[in-house]
Amino acid sequence: MVGSGGREHAICDAFRRSRQVKRLFCANGNAGIASIAECVPIRPDDVHALADFAATNQIDLTFVGGEISLALGIVDEFERRGLRILGPKKEAAELESSKAFAKDFMARYEVPTAKYAVAHSAGFAQLMLESGDFGNESTPVVVKADGLAAGKGVVVARNRAEAIAACSDMESLVGSAAAQKIVLEECLVGREVSLLAFVDGEHFALMPAVRDHKRIGEGDTGPNTGGMGTVTDASLLSPEEMQAIVDTIIHPTIHGCVRDGFPFRGILFLGLMMTAAGPQVLEYNVRFGDPEAQAVLVRLNTDLVDICAAILAGRLNELDVQWQPGSSACVVLAAEGYPGKPRTGDVISGLEKAATHDAVKIFHSGTSFQNGERGTVNDESNSSNTPLTTHVSPLVTAGGRVLGVTATGNDLSSALDRAYKAVSEIGWPGMQFRRDIGKSASAAA
Ligand code: AMP
Repeated sequence: MVGSGGREHAICDAFRRSRQVKRLFCANGNAGIASIAECVPIRPDDVHALADFAATNQIDLTFVGGEISLALGIVDEFERRGLRILGPKKEAAELESSKAFAKDFMARYEVPTAKYAVAHSAGFAQLMLESGDFGNESTPVVVKADGLAAGKGVVVARNRAEAIAACSDMESLVGSAAAQKIVLEECLVGREVSLLAFVDGEHFALMPAVRDHKRIGEGDTGPNTGGMGTVTDASLLSPEEMQAIVDTIIHPTIHGCVRDGFPFRGILFLGLMMTAAGPQVLEYNVRFGDPEAQAVLVRLNTDLVDICAAILAGRLNELDVQWQPGSSACVVLAAEGYPGKPRTGDVISGLEKAATHDAVKIFHSGTSFQNGERGTVNDESNSSNTPLTTHVSPLVTAGGRVLGVTATGNDLSSALDRAYKAVSEIGWPGMQFRRDIGKSASAAA
């Protein structure tokens, strides 16, 4: 497993449920992952070191959590060396790593998405706005950095003036590499939902629809975060809406990848706006989301190793991927100061008791052990090659998002109830979380 967040903890947990997994390694891992996998200090962007590790340790299968490794071509490198790995190759990963590439791809294959224009510099984007080539004075415009920006590269501007300001701010927001090109988009109105699928190049298996909560504050207020919670529930998408997404988005996307010469193998994540004119794509991701993975994977009943094998063999159509019926919820607990500069090093209490609650799993993101025995989430200073081992020192906060308290239930309210009861056991100074995860989640809302 490559990665070190709550998403990777949830994926490791799914692998641990497989009887086929004999040993599980995670690079880098975190304090929670260390209880179910052997953590090794290799960064996700060190593709060559990861391949060396997989070769030396005869790893049978590598699964990639995040976009950085995929955008750097980890899959191409592993395959070149005859190592089995699950994820899209670099070219297919461009659906996420370049928004301009993704928009042109969607235009080519008539995948419904917002009207757009690509500017080859921030200055040019400003000119397009000022001259009226894109948008008009009073309509909202969405301004996006082309490259990977860890969720910071999108500004929904209320009018032309704000959009122009967003263009000039973009470089300082996301860095010059990600902001080299700017994508301007029409602002869509509707209900947001995400749909993920396992894809083997030709066939796909849908996961339960999932909704995230991006803002730090209740009622969707305050700044954006990596995600403060997620729910899965049948009411998020009606069967008709699901069918429309399959027909107008998933089929053309999979076929488009084949036609363009980069069949998509891995996890396809659609960020969608359900508009009056039907579903439209806001973004493609080429991997699980965090915290979408937590809420989705706790409901996975099929062995994840079997799914990976079917994907690699191009036989996903022969596997019946099963999900636990009902719903799930993941409530993220964050450190004081998040999403700005989080305070770290606070001792976390109540975790063991919370973990005994029925149908609850607690996934770690930014945690470590107080004496530093185990790597922290973003611990890039640890250059030794010794696997991080178990200890007894107290668990402390080590990042912005700290834990994802995740529960399943027969319906959304019971999943939420279980998650929040477990949350009430946990605490540290300055802990923050949203009390309204899953409210107004349904299609009817
Ligand atoms: P993205 O990273 O492209 O998904 O954008 C992040 C967030 O910005 C989305 O979850 C939406 O809330 C919002 N957004 C992105 N594109 C649009 C659009 N064309 N219209 C309205 N909202 C958008």
